[in-house]
Amino acid sequence: MKVTKFGGSSLASAAQLEKVLQIVKEDASRKFIVVSAPGKRSSEDIKVTDLLIAYYNTYLNNENTTEITGKIVDRYEAILDELGLDKEILNDIQQGIQKLATLPKQDNPHLFDAFLASGENNNAKLVASFFQQRGLKARYKNPSDLGIIVSDEPGNARILTSSLSKINQFKTTDEILVIPGFFGFTEAGDICTFSRGGSDITGSIVAAGVEADIYENFTDVNGIFVAHPGIIHEPKTIKELTYREMRELAYAGFAVLHDEALMPAYRANIPVVIKNTNNPEHPGTLITTSRTVKHDPVVGIASDQGFASIYISKYLMNRELGFGRRLLQILEELGLSYEHMPSGIDDISIILREEQLTIEIEEQLMERLERELEPDELRITHGLSMLMVVGEGMRQRIGVMADSTAALAFNKINLEMINQGSSEVSIMFGIREDQEKKAIQALYKTFFEVE
Ligand code: ASP
Repeated sequence: MKVTKFGGSSLASAAQLEKVLQIVKEDASRKFIVVSAPGKRSSEDIKVTDLLIAYYNTYLNNENTTEITGKIVDRYEAILDELGLDKEILNDIQQGIQKLATLPKQDNPHLFDAFLASGENNNAKLVASFFQQRGLKARYKNPSDLGIIVSDEPGNARILTSSLSKINQFKTTDEILVIPGFFGFTEAGDICTFSRGGSDITGSIVAAGVEADIYENFTDVNGIFVAHPGIIHEPKTIKELTYREMRELAYAGFAVLHDEALMPAYRANIPVVIKNTNNPEHPGTLITTSRTVKHDPVVGIASDQGFASIYISKYLMNRELGFGRRLLQILEELGLSYEHMPSGIDDISIILREEQLTIEIEEQLMERLERELEPDELRITHGLSMLMVVGEGMRQRIGVMADSTAALAFNKINLEMINQGSSEVSIMFGIREDQEKKAIQALYKTFFEVE
């Protein structure tokens, strides 16, 4: 049995919904359908979730909400009209949207979440009604009835493990259950959403809960590319990769799947496949515990900008007891989290996300490091990009590091830092942001253009 999630672009218009119907119809094991809110129909269009944010702000500022609620209802109505569906469900959707503007504004930490969640909730109702009218035995299922229980962290909820056994009770359903993604309910019964893009998380939780054979995530690309298509023209798609490889790539900016979405499926050992609603015949990208395609040492190359590196060197650092602890304590006391910490005998670098460093924080940080650690050398470099060459296969293959550095050197890319994580799933290079594009192109050529 399969859990199948469709993203916003797969549900943005009647034409897209027809494709979704075909996909669901052609495989009877697709029993759990998780949906996002309608997304963009074109690049200028606005996602329903973003319209709901505008609605929330209008309501909060005591402005007239007629126009914005009209725009939101219109999105659902247009889909129903184009599909030629019975519009009974529209009343329900319209009332639900209007009722949001009667919820209390004071002492209501879940208000924003209630607005946002309505996007997927109404869409699940619409999709269920569409499936029924086209002859499928389908039903809308609210996350609270299904047992999606989450932590009380508005806008950033996490799933509670108690959910899984509750969801498991629906495992043997003979109907198709259409479930809204992106939100759950707290133990006290309040609505709470995951962070943006969180419908992927719902799909993964449901898959884990019902012990699905596979979690299918339908989006608008053929799968995960080996490198960013903005940098490489028509890059190859990855056929298969492991959860760990995916995690590394996602960390460095591969945003096909929500960062937190893999965890429930991973823990339950359920493979995840990324597929294209617009090209369902394409096999997509499979994410599993271990891959069968073993000959490729590198599966992908990713990069992310906005890092700073603090270099600290002190003669005999290795003998100085508590040096690392004091360093980390300074970071902690300034509320700074670090990403990487490569070290040598007498030196250490701290790589952190630059967005955390306001001018004042940076001044305090450098002053405290100087005073409390008394280093021989201390400097900060801004504007770094982290380049990741990812692949479990590199553990068995000699020369991945050599090939990477040779390609970078040949293209005159200066390496500010090299770090190979202890797990040997990736090699990371710190380079200057303005050299990022050239570096990715050089590595792509080395690992993916040779036969
Ligand atoms: N609709 C929500 C968003 O735009 C959640 C999702 O689509 O996954 O963030």
